[in-house]
Amino acid sequence: MELFAEQALLPDGWHRNVRITVSSDGRFESIVPDARISAGVERKTVVVPSQLSLHSHAFQRGMAGLAESRQNPADTFWTWRRLMYQLAHRISPEQMQDIASYLYMEMLTAGYTQVAEFHYLHHAPGGATYGQVAEMSLRVGEAAQAVGIGLTLLPTLYERGGFDGRPLQEAQERFATTPELIGRIISETRLAWAETPLLSVGLGLHSLRAVDLKTVPDLLAAQTAPVHIHVAEQQKEVEECVAFVGARPVEYLLSEADVDERWCLVHATHLSDSEIAGMARSGAVAGLCPITEANLGDGLFPLAPYVNDGGRFGIGSDSNVLISPWEELRTLEYGQRLFTQTRCAALPAETLGSTGGWLYRQALDGGRWACGLESWGLVAGARADLCVLDEDLLPLPYLQDDAVLDAAIFGSRQPPVKDVLCGGQWRVRDGRHLNHDAVTAAFRRTVRTLLDL
Ligand SMILES: [Zn+2]
Repeated sequence: MELFAEQALLPDGWHRNVRITVSSDGRFESIVPDARISAGVERKTVVVPSQLSLHSHAFQRGMAGLAESRQNPADTFWTWRRLMYQLAHRISPEQMQDIASYLYMEMLTAGYTQVAEFHYLHHAPGGATYGQVAEMSLRVGEAAQAVGIGLTLLPTLYERGGFDGRPLQEAQERFATTPELIGRIISETRLAWAETPLLSVGLGLHSLRAVDLKTVPDLLAAQTAPVHIHVAEQQKEVEECVAFVGARPVEYLLSEADVDERWCLVHATHLSDSEIAGMARSGAVAGLCPITEANLGDGLFPLAPYVNDGGRFGIGSDSNVLISPWEELRTLEYGQRLFTQTRCAALPAETLGSTGGWLYRQALDGGRWACGLESWGLVAGARADLCVLDEDLLPLPYLQDDAVLDAAIFGSRQPPVKDVLCGGQWRVRDGRHLNHDAVTAAFRRTVRTLLDL
């Protein structure tokens, strides 16, 4: 396949008249700027690398918008979690697949072509393992395959109910796992997906409150793929960590585990100055989920000091209450502006230039690392994924270079995405996924049954 872009964002910046060829194995064969268009080749105006959601809980899309009504005067993250547990308690493997298919279709339509699924819902209601222990994980893979999105599945370890080692509550019994069981799920999914280039497997550790780091050295040693952990999302979690281990969460994690660029520290909202410096130095990616963090009232990540220390980050859709990489980046930047009372607040102190362009590139780099992908973007050899932007959805015509990304992030009324290529195949054309109607119908049927609507 061949296409031609009037302007395209390559690793070394924007170029004009770019000829893009895709090989039959779904990778970019060549990317040639300043080229001539050949007869019969599709012409696109603006082409950018697609984004990666480095943190997702697919089933939570099935409760989007249902947790916005106040149930008591002191509603918190923890009351939201009760509602989420009710959904987690009921969902069947088929329902999981239908919801994940719909969510991943929405992701593609919004401009994501890769998702890291932080997956801790492993067992049947009641806590028994399925006949095939990786049943739920395999369903997530089926969903990704069905709509054509890249997936980094993170089978996630969940051992206990809190720092004090208390057992899991009844609502958490579907999550209960040991390091051995997670090792089996990783092996089973890797074996099943050996021939499917869009699917890969890493490791999730739910959180410091749910995992005892002393139990995981063997599991970590067996991993070359990414390792993700929720950390320091809520103040209550910081206080409990200090009370039980005598250190703040990120401080404790950095001292007890060999945290390096394989790691993704999801949220890491509440950090001391030394934790910010230590985390940036480690090379780990901060997994920021600005829409969900705002929705749940988590707090603001200290982005300015972190990027000034050279820290890297990517974006995740997490609870999937709203699906848009553009809105994730806008929310991230606006949170920082409101907090610091400055503009262009996400840029490192001495950096000038486009905020949108800088945010977009940082999210590509952090997302690629967190998803365990060797290469990403418009470069020969990388998986052939890209987004064609829809100029009609941008606020102004004739924009060029990073002004396109600034307009797309700060001035577009919806994801300004026209066509999306993933693994060398068109998945979205003219703003619509190719299998939109069937995937949507299955999702609607499933949600109606699951939620008694
Ligand atoms: Zn999460």
